[in-house]
Amino acid sequence: MTTVGHPNSLADIAGKVLAGERLSRDEGIRMILSHELATLGYLADVVRKRKVGDHAYFLNNHHINHSNVCLSCCPFCAFSRLPGQEGAYTLTADQVVEKAVSAAAHDVTEVYILGGNHPELPLAHFEDMFRRVKERLPGVSIKGLTPTEVDHISRLSGVDARETLVRLKNAGMGMLSGGGAEVFSVRVRKKICPAKATGERWLEICRLAHEAGIPTTATMLYGHVETLEERVDHLLALRELQDETGGIATFIPLPFHPAGTQLAKLPRTTAFEDLKMIAIARLMLDNFPHITAFWFSVGERVAQIALSFGADDVYGPVHEEMIVHAAGAEEAQAIELSALVNMIKSAGRVPAERDTFYRVIREGF
Ligand code: SF4
Repeated sequence: MTTVGHPNSLADIAGKVLAGERLSRDEGIRMILSHELATLGYLADVVRKRKVGDHAYFLNNHHINHSNVCLSCCPFCAFSRLPGQEGAYTLTADQVVEKAVSAAAHDVTEVYILGGNHPELPLAHFEDMFRRVKERLPGVSIKGLTPTEVDHISRLSGVDARETLVRLKNAGMGMLSGGGAEVFSVRVRKKICPAKATGERWLEICRLAHEAGIPTTATMLYGHVETLEERVDHLLALRELQDETGGIATFIPLPFHPAGTQLAKLPRTTAFEDLKMIAIARLMLDNFPHITAFWFSVGERVAQIALSFGADDVYGPVHEEMIVHAAGAEEAQAIELSALVNMIKSAGRVPAERDTFYRVIREGF
């Protein structure tokens, strides 16, 4: 724990957190520069408990990466291929529907459909795909696409972003994924994703989605070329949007996996850094209901400890995850529900299976 009076003391920040006061940018930067992991974890755990009590959530979902064809060529991405490049694939709408139907045999409650910025798939293609998935699986939610993909589909189809979102919603998209946020800094995006939507545009598409009644998640891909201050600024931009709309269901910090990317020489983040990021997210994002420790991205062991560092959600079994695994994630692509339940129980939490919208489906395992 921090010693009061020590030059790096977080005692004043602790006082604000315990009093329920909002933390400033400077305080966020002090926390991210600090090595007082136990203090940050303790404070984040107090806030977590205040918000959700002893529950820890998980989701039974299935990822469908409908295509890896993408024109953006982000240097940090190991998943995408250019059209015609070896390994490039695009599933037809029929194939996506069949994958969703097979997944439903495992009682999934959500299919998460995403790809890249494909040069030829217009809005009508996704409307048709989502409609057909919902016709076959009316009880399964579709989490679809990212703000970056919505921006691309909107421009490709000549339909403005607001209408694109409304049409996707009418076709069955229940939630918009918060992927593709990376780090909002213009400087960082020039280096890691120069050809895709700006951070400002990402936030704008999310705002439009919330106005259209479509909730989103939010992410941050950290541990590459960004500074610690840029991470804090990313959190502040999300907090501001959430103040405005209240439409973000959870924040998911994603450590960068460099293997197989053009940034492969960068080191992986450490467990210390991952836990600190989760704790700081919980403390800075005081208007977010949930913080997710994505087990396949941070690893099962860190995800479990994260439940004592501010996280209240470990995501789900994630059948067939491809994007993080293309970048060398060593975790399995799915985990048995019973293992997830054990992970949560042995961390002293009450496991609760949730749906896409954090409604509890089952508890008392
Ligand atoms: S991160 Fe997304 S936009 Fe960038 S290359 Fe990969 S699939 Fe395309």
